[in-house]
Amino acid sequence: MNSIPEIFAENVFNENIMRDKLPKEVFKKLMKTIELGEPLDVSIANVVANAMKDWAVEKGATHYTHWFQPMTGITAEKHDSFITPTAGGKVIMAFSGKELIQGEPDASSFPSGGLRATFEARGYTAWDPSSYAFVKDGTLYIPTAFCSYTGEALDKKTPLLRSMDAISRQACRVLRLFGKDPKRVTTTVGPEQEYFLVDKKYYDQRKDLIFTGRTLFGAMAPKGQEMEDHYFGSIKPRIAAFMSDLDVELWKYGLLAKTKHNEVAPAQHEIAPIFSTTNISIDNNQLLMELAKKVALKHGMVCLLHEKPFDGVNGSGKHNNWSMSTDSGENLLNPGRDPKENAQFMLILTAVITAVDKYAKLMRLSVATAGNDHRLGAHEAPPAIVSVFLGDELERVVNDIIEGGRSPLDGPAKIELGVTTLPVFPKDNTDRNRTSPFAFTGNRFEFRMPGSSTSIGCVNMMLNTAVADVFKQYADELEGAEDFRKALNELIKRELTEHRRVIFNGNGYDDSWIEEAERRGLPNLRSTPEALAAYDEFVDLFEQTGVLSETELKSRKEILLGEYAKTIKIESRTMVDMSKKDILPGVAGYIKELTEIACNKKTLGLDNALEIKEIEKLSALASASYDRTVVLEQAVAGAADFTDAQEYADYQHDVVIPAMTELRAAVDEMELNTAQKYWPFPTYDKLLFGI
Ligand code: ADP
Ligand code: MG
Repeated sequence: MNSIPEIFAENVFNENIMRDKLPKEVFKKLMKTIELGEPLDVSIANVVANAMKDWAVEKGATHYTHWFQPMTGITAEKHDSFITPTAGGKVIMAFSGKELIQGEPDASSFPSGGLRATFEARGYTAWDPSSYAFVKDGTLYIPTAFCSYTGEALDKKTPLLRSMDAISRQACRVLRLFGKDPKRVTTTVGPEQEYFLVDKKYYDQRKDLIFTGRTLFGAMAPKGQEMEDHYFGSIKPRIAAFMSDLDVELWKYGLLAKTKHNEVAPAQHEIAPIFSTTNISIDNNQLLMELAKKVALKHGMVCLLHEKPFDGVNGSGKHNNWSMSTDSGENLLNPGRDPKENAQFMLILTAVITAVDKYAKLMRLSVATAGNDHRLGAHEAPPAIVSVFLGDELERVVNDIIEGGRSPLDGPAKIELGVTTLPVFPKDNTDRNRTSPFAFTGNRFEFRMPGSSTSIGCVNMMLNTAVADVFKQYADELEGAEDFRKALNELIKRELTEHRRVIFNGNGYDDSWIEEAERRGLPNLRSTPEALAAYDEFVDLFEQTGVLSETELKSRKEILLGEYAKTIKIESRTMVDMSKKDILPGVAGYIKELTEIACNKKTLGLDNALEIKEIEKLSALASASYDRTVVLEQAVAGAADFTDAQEYADYQHDVVIPAMTELRAAVDEMELNTAQKYWPFPTYDKLLFGI
């Protein structure tokens, strides 16, 4: 293998390559667009396109694609070749600035939530120069945003970029209050990605895994995660080989893959890159998920990104580490060293706390999917209640500011911001509360609610927007203040007092927290349909920040409700199918064998009580399973009539899911009582411990 620094980013048209391949002036202008978000001068696009094409062709590319992120949550691509006919029946490889900047994928089948009638077909893609193009499998990939012809966002990236602008504008205003003059503030994200690996030969025998990404049936194996021997345990050779292959692939695409380890559940693992600018991180995370699946297949395994592939062991999430930094590299969530820096930090911290409390429902709905409903509130992931963990030191500071007295522990006396130095906050892992949905971890917040398969585009778009809104309010108030320090102290005290209810350092898995949260008036949106119903409350927020229009917001709600309902539809139909075609016939075979044994024994005058007992037990379970299959089938049929997206989603949640749960319980019990050879597909022992 070549040395890592040599292969790193070899497939990426990044800053170094651009500096090398582009005329100086063009390079400078492009970098201004990339770094400061300045509009791109069209005249330079031709030059960039040509250089990009030459570089890509050298790397073996024959095609290019505008790579975009429609509302399906995964990426989409349509490949066009570079060939252009010339006189004499020949071709040349050509790529124009126009083709680079804008594409028309004719992607009329992507969900648009009513924004586009299919007869109006076209949406268009627009180059996002801030995320690097790359070559993969003979194609030049150009990261793009995807909009309708009337300019409405049809994807996850457009609003994300808008939200990055919104927060940058407001954060710059806030920093100016402290005598700084940043050109831009960008949000940064480092997503930790959890996943499962199963042997492909077992996967291929399970319709539920194939159609839905999770097991819809399956009794727990005798061993689960109780020994906690898998977490950070030594990595098995086959997994290690996969991981190192994946690292190399990711490095070639310029992804800063950094950390890898076994997770809590058997067969569960995690990979984390070093953080980068939000939109790049999100593109990279999409690429990571795709490559993880691809590389796993090469190793005869399937990478499961579903939030809850197995009942009875932990599901998978995607921890979204988030912060903000200026163009000169100052991390705004880094507590400062002197009083002035600390005052700025406390204001920014207060803004984030306020945003999370004020827009708690928004944070919750940003992670609402059918898959994630299995995690949130299930004593393995944060609860569905959004709260903020600050750690003891910081909470003491907050209390001190609010109460204005001496803190009970040996903290500082009455804090006056801009004068007092805050204590140094420890950044070690021991202080972390793993049960908190939104935890301060020294120099960033870790949002732990997102599901493992989710695009974190929405999550960060919503977080940015919420914080941008609060920054705006603070800047409006403080810009006009006569005595800045006084106004600042008052504002922070007032805001922390009002929003301290969202701060919770205790155990989020504890049932008492649910009651406590209710007393505090914190929302607890338990399911996706319930969470998505809250969308309408945020029209003003999104319109005022310029991130989403009311029409765009409503279309998103429709799409997500529809996606939820369709997920349950596929799952429920798969269950009926497996039950009728595989499970009940399999168990009938076993009952037949038992019956034959019982009859033979009887003929020989032997005691057959055991077989009779087994037959009776299995017959009863099979009969219950059959009945519950019929009930589920009827529930599935009843779903056909809905036209309203919310009602359809509610029905799936209230009627279909309970019927699925009932059927599963009977079938899992049956599995535990059926001889291995009659069970129609591999069970949890093979899936979880088979590698
Ligand atoms: P842990 O598992 O202890 O939470 P990891 O090292 O697995 O920590 O992941 C931490 C993640 O946080 C990494 O992706 C890291 O790059 C990211 N991170 C660190 N600093 C920042 C920051 N300023 N902004 C965003 N993400 C950050
Ligand atoms: Mg982690």
